[in-house]
Amino acid sequence: MKKRIAVIGFGAAGIGYVEELKNSEHQLVIFEKSKDVISSSLSGIRSDGKIFISKEMGGTLDIDVALQKRVVDFYLKKSDVSEDKIEHGVSFGAQNSDFYRRFYVNGFLPVSAEFFHIGTDFLKNVMQNIYEEFSSKENISFKFKTKVVDVINNEDNSVTVLYIDVETGETISETFDKAVIGVGRSGHKLIENIKTREPKTVLASTTVDLGVRFELPNHIVKEINEEMYEFKVKLKTSAGYEVRTFCNNPSGYVTIEKYNDDEFVTVNGHSKVNSKTDNTNFAVLVTHSFTHPFNDPVGYGTHISKLSNILAGGKKVILQTYKDFKNSKRTKKLGRVSPTLDSEHYILGDLNLVFPSKTKCAIVEFLEQLNNVIPGVTCPDNLLYGVEVKFYSNVLDNNYFKNISFIGDCSGWSRSITYATCHGVLEAQKELENS
Ligand SMILES: Cc1cc2nc3c(=O)[nH]c(=O)nc-3n(C[C@H](O)[C@H](O)[C@H](O)COP(=O)(O)OP(=O)(O)OC[C@H]3O[C@@H](n4cnc5c(N)ncnc54)[C@H](O)[C@@H]3O)c2cc1C
Repeated sequence: MKKRIAVIGFGAAGIGYVEELKNSEHQLVIFEKSKDVISSSLSGIRSDGKIFISKEMGGTLDIDVALQKRVVDFYLKKSDVSEDKIEHGVSFGAQNSDFYRRFYVNGFLPVSAEFFHIGTDFLKNVMQNIYEEFSSKENISFKFKTKVVDVINNEDNSVTVLYIDVETGETISETFDKAVIGVGRSGHKLIENIKTREPKTVLASTTVDLGVRFELPNHIVKEINEEMYEFKVKLKTSAGYEVRTFCNNPSGYVTIEKYNDDEFVTVNGHSKVNSKTDNTNFAVLVTHSFTHPFNDPVGYGTHISKLSNILAGGKKVILQTYKDFKNSKRTKKLGRVSPTLDSEHYILGDLNLVFPSKTKCAIVEFLEQLNNVIPGVTCPDNLLYGVEVKFYSNVLDNNYFKNISFIGDCSGWSRSITYATCHGVLEAQKELENS
């Protein structure tokens, strides 16, 4: 049966969904709060674009490697970058590699993956090419500057999408046969609204990752950066917390990430193909998993992030040297490492006023252990920016509603471009099977 489907959010997951249904009989109406396809909310599909194939990271869905490869090929083709220009690497491909062994004997779990880096500059081509192809199809239409505030399941199984026209401020409602919600992390207010009305959509809500963006000179990590594009390792610390590296950016930039329509800012990192810095940055993230009666990891992460902004005197993050962080002293002066984040976005401060002590101890233990593998990681003047937060914790039940499903990061099942896109593809395949 031909359906009219609302696709809410045009990020990685939405792209996967529409790509799979672009030649179907279904009518797809895409709602995107941003003004165009390029300038949408900051995420990996618009910034950095490190796309990987791995069974060990990127989400909790079980996605076979063939589909992951198909998704990666799709993005690489849309980038207009010749194959030899795409940065490519394998992390911990072989268990007998020297780095694998060095991490292993120091207690780390190395995560293996194959990486392709498109870069912030070429992601514009990717998004533009995808948009041009989709918008040329008769069954696909885009509604930019439409912020969806609620999606309601009606008694007759139709779905009402309530959205605000960002230009006029007018609230409009439209009815569809089905809605697929892929609003990523930036759309968590919409998920919150649906969840509040229908709490049973949430399968699990216990976890949030909190930590710092760590920045150090390229020469310290030169050897590992040359051997693998991205090093991902996990460590179980003595407090019981699991700490991991995330999103390594050789010669990259630290950036801020805006949340909840600019309600607060956190820190992140990215890199460009044509513009390099002298520093490498990566996240050090501490997984916080709570038990009953706790059920608000987003609230917890939001409060910690806001606390860093309050201490920084506005929509800014806190920057501290490693030595000062370890010794719980406010940083007043930087050393040899120059921050790549624009100075208007940070203040020098003390992250010990932000993190619970268990979190701080876990970060320090992780970095000290990392220093055994990569000497120089704990140089006193290396930089920590806080807070970096990963909200992926509301795992939503896609069997709860008949005609509403959640794809990508907002569903709690993915946390990467590859997995979010694959999730969109898989949901679309279900639709094709049921048609
Ligand atoms: C700075 C940054 C860099 C990253 N780098 C990488 C990387 O290199 N590699 C990697 O694998 N992952 C990376 N990630 C994570 C990756 O971007 C996400 O896992 C992935 O994009 C999730 O896809 P998604 O479709 O679920 O969400 P998104 O790609 O975030 O897309 C969601 C879309 O929904 C729109 N939207 C939100 N709310 C609404 C609303 N209410 N109404 C209408 N539209 C709405 C947004 O504007 C956005 O376009 C990065 C994330 C960030 C923030």
